[in-house]
Amino acid sequence: MLTREALLNRDAADPLRSFRDRFDLPDGMVYLDGNSLGALPKDTAARLADVVAREWGQDLITSWNKNGWYELPLTLGNKLGRLIGAAEGQVAIADSTSINLFKVLAAAIALRPGRKVIISDSGNFPTDLYMAQGLTTFLGGVDLLVVDETEVAQSLNENVAAVFLTEVNYRSGRKHDMAALTQKIHEVGALAIWDLAHSAGAFPVHLDAAGADFAVGCGYKYLNGGPGAPAFLYIAKRHQHQAMPILSGWMGHAAPFLFDLDYRPADGMRRALAGTPAILSMRALEVGIDLMLEADLSALAAKSTALTEVFMRLVEQECPGVFGNVTPADPARRGSQVCLTHAQGYAIVQALIARKVIPDFRAPDILRFGFAPLYVGFADLWDAVAHLKAIMDSGEWKESRFAARGSVT
Ligand SMILES: *Cc1c(COP(=O)(O)O)cnc(C)c1O
Repeated sequence: MLTREALLNRDAADPLRSFRDRFDLPDGMVYLDGNSLGALPKDTAARLADVVAREWGQDLITSWNKNGWYELPLTLGNKLGRLIGAAEGQVAIADSTSINLFKVLAAAIALRPGRKVIISDSGNFPTDLYMAQGLTTFLGGVDLLVVDETEVAQSLNENVAAVFLTEVNYRSGRKHDMAALTQKIHEVGALAIWDLAHSAGAFPVHLDAAGADFAVGCGYKYLNGGPGAPAFLYIAKRHQHQAMPILSGWMGHAAPFLFDLDYRPADGMRRALAGTPAILSMRALEVGIDLMLEADLSALAAKSTALTEVFMRLVEQECPGVFGNVTPADPARRGSQVCLTHAQGYAIVQALIARKVIPDFRAPDILRFGFAPLYVGFADLWDAVAHLKAIMDSGEWKESRFAARGSVT
């Protein structure tokens, strides 16, 4: 039997407990949606005020050299690389996840000429599939095959150029075995592209060790970079000199300030850049990444596992039989989220939000609870489930105000 006292004791013993105070969370709120929009680090406002007043206001255009703006996509990429198991020179911060997926997918297809198929799974986040549909329609001659997430390995053959998968399923929380699948993908000579949107910052990732070829991911989820923060992409060193940029913009040119009429890609990750980087947003993301780098990554992984485990046990204890649960029980096979199911999931989530417990809803019936290990505590889990129990026991979710749908769920 879990009690609130026992969970408070767990918080007291948590090696990451000091991080919670580094975030500006509203009083009385239990925020379980850091997998969709990460919380605001306390340092961000002051850092941005300084960047605006000094770097932009005073140093103006000299900041490109003086304040490291020109190199920022790559220097910040190197910092992020430490969170995702990438040695220096393989990560750039740029654009959005959708656009970065387009870039790496195009590069992968070009690296495997003659192969006619790219594969993803139906558990992937739709924008990844949409971007692939746009690319294959434009290219002609390469088809997108979308298979069930349990059937990726069986679908591989020597006609496959690339496989692109999101490590953690945004709806179920199911986590692919990145190293094992990458190896199988390589056995047929195809390339492995990993989307780390629900991984980076939630637990350590090991891209180099897994042998990944390419990766992409989000800056505004577990990395706490702010709404619409720039995304990242990873290109394994061994591919960088061959991977020709499909978005061949001047910021990826070998010598942008020679203003040549012809494009020549820069060496290394710079060629992954297209246009001028969004410096203000990148500075905000840097605060989130720097904060995460202060944490012990093995403690991060352990806490992510513990939070998801305790939450599932609490729901069973306090609301037995009320919800389905599509989250894998094996901690090695799940991300940092728990996904309950209920036919009235939308209204129940709205009722939770009214009580300042913030998960989100994913159609058709998923109540998604994300656990950002830096700022979610164990007693928060108790409080969230206590509200959930009250809502279910009283039928509060049936109130008509919880039925109306906003445009963002
Ligand atoms: C959140 C998410 C995205 C978002 O892409 P944007 O281009 O930032 O809108 C992409 N892929 C996955 C897997 C995601 O979870």
